[in-house]
Parts: sequence; structure tokens; C-alpha cells
Amino acid sequence: IKDSYGKRYAWFDDSMREALLEQQEIVNEMEFALRDGQFITYFQPQYNYETGKMIGAEALVRWQHPRKGTILPNKFIPLFERNGFISRLDEYMWEQVCIQLKDWERKGLNLVPISVNVSRRDIYNPHLVGNILSLLQEYELSPEMLHLEITESAYTQNAEQLVNTVNLLRIHGIEVHMDDFGSGYSSLNMLQNVPVDILKLDMRFLGGDYKDERSGNILNAVVRMATALRLPVLAEGVETKEQAEFLRSIGCLLMQGYLFSRPMAVEDFEKLLDGSQTV
Ligand code: C2E
Ligand code: CA
Ligand code: CA
Ligand code: CA
Repeated sequence: IKDSYGKRYAWFDDSMREALLEQQEIVNEMEFALRDGQFITYFQPQYNYETGKMIGAEALVRWQHPRKGTILPNKFIPLFERNGFISRLDEYMWEQVCIQLKDWERKGLNLVPISVNVSRRDIYNPHLVGNILSLLQEYELSPEMLHLEITESAYTQNAEQLVNTVNLLRIHGIEVHMDDFGSGYSSLNMLQNVPVDILKLDMRFLGGDYKDERSGNILNAVVRMATALRLPVLAEGVETKEQAEFLRSIGCLLMQGYLFSRPMAVEDFEKLLDGSQTV
């Protein structure tokens, strides 16, 4: 007994050490990686399922590591949120998106608004709104071209400051989307008092299994309530035609997910911009 216990304990120790080393490596490399342009913007289109038109896209970060290849955000974003580096990365991402929009405009492509992610840390930065507005000004972009995604759980923290910030953004014509709606709890009654333009409903959190009657009912109820509050719902993580059809049947027409497209490198995404922008 002692032996196997000892072994398990040692194994646990090893994997802990490995994880810590990996984290240390990320911390050692992040500054250089940012300066070196290793953080790349991918784009995932968002569609109106009824018309088939692309209505926008979400910018998602990828770390193109010279040795390790492409690293997905779940490997580094939680760490960056803890050590504060997320604020630098996000500002970098927002600027990259502005540069990209400007470039597409110069190329004469039909632009769609791009949604960027705003970490909960960024929201409490008193310079957030000013920084975003200067970016738009610097690249001469209309505020409608940049949408901000703020995660639902941020809305449950310092509600007052968040509401003020979101109000200010919207006064300046910048849409705010509530990300990961349905992952938290206080969301339903909160919706009445919170300023937001679109609810992003993650199929993986809420009623992803639309065939299950209860999940289907929850999805249906959320969409109805949002409609009653005049809030458009964008379903993300839509992977199957059945899910899309079900969403359509309950009046949720805006969608994003693997069914339509994975997040794409800019060269591929660009090709969607000059055409008719349909699925
Ligand atoms: P998120 O904001 O909820 O972004 C959606 C995630 O779902 C993305 O994962 C996307 O690739 C994935 N996804 C989209 N459609 C589907 C689908 O049909 N099925 C499944 N299984 N997944 C789908 P990704 O790119 O790995 O990003 C993970 C999270 O990392 C994001 O979740 C977001 O919270 C965070 N993140 C990504 N880029 C940034 C960034 O630039 N700044 C900040 N602060 N966070 C970011
Ligand atoms: Ca998001
Ligand atoms: Ca989300
Ligand atoms: Ca998220």
C-alpha cells in the first residue's frame, strides 16, 4: 500500500513540476514573443443563418511559437490573466485588428465588424475607453467596425464601474457583446439593468444538447426572454446542422461555430471578404 501510494504521490509531484516549468517558460518568453510578433490574429466568421450573410467575425489569438508551433489560448490566457500580461496582449490584439481593418479597406474589400475580446482585467482599467477611441482615431476607423466582447462573469463583479464603462463605450458607438452568456448564474435577472447590444450564448454551456428536452427548453426560454428585452442573441459553438435548425426554429438566427468555419488565418479569412460573404 505504502509503495503504490508513494508512487502516485511522486507522479503527482512530477506533473506539478512540469506544469510549473511550462508556466515559467511562458512567463520568460511572453515579452519577447509579443515584440517578435508571435501572437497572431485568427478570425472566425459570424453569420445570419437565415440570409446566409456574414455579419462579422471574432478575433482570436494564436501563439505561433518558433519551436512549439501553434499554441491555443487556453494554454496561456489564464496565466496572463493572473500575471496581468493579458492587458498588454489585448491592447496589441485590438491594434492588430485595427491595422487589419485598415488594410482590408485599402484593398477595397467589403468590411465586416470585428469583435475583440476584453479580459475582465481590462474593464477596470480607467484608460480602456480612451485607449480604444485613440486606436479608432489613429487608424481612422468608424466605431461600428469594432465590437467588444466582455465575458458574462465580469458583469457580476463590480457592476457599477462596468456599467459606467459599457455605457461610455456605447455612447461612442461601440457595440458591447456579452460573452459566454449562460456560464454564470446571476445572468437572468441582471439582464434588465445591464447595458449590452448582443448576448453571446455558448452552446457548450447552455443546452448544447438540444435534443435533450430540458436543454431545449432552457435555450428556448433564454432566447424568448432576450427577445422580450429586445436583445439579439448570437449562438456560438454551433457544430451541427441540427443545432442550427433548432436555433432557427426558436428565433435565434445569428451563429458562429465549426459548422460554418473554424477560426482562420487572415489570408483565408480575407478571401471571404471580397465575395458575397455568404455561407
Ligand atoms: P471565447 O471568447 O468563448 O471564444 C470562442 C472559443 O470557442 C474559441 O476558442 C473558438 O475557437 C472556439 N469555438 C468556436 N466555434 C466552436 C465550435 O463550434 N466548437 C467548439 N468546440 N469550439 C468552438 P479559442 O480560440 O481556443 O479561445 C479560447 C478562449 O480564449 C476564448 O473563448 C477567449 O475567452 C480566450 N481568448 C482568445 N483570444 C483572446 C484574446 O485575444 N484576448 C482575450 N482576453 N481572450 C482571448
Ligand atoms: Ca469571445
Ligand atoms: Ca464565448
Ligand atoms: Ca470566454
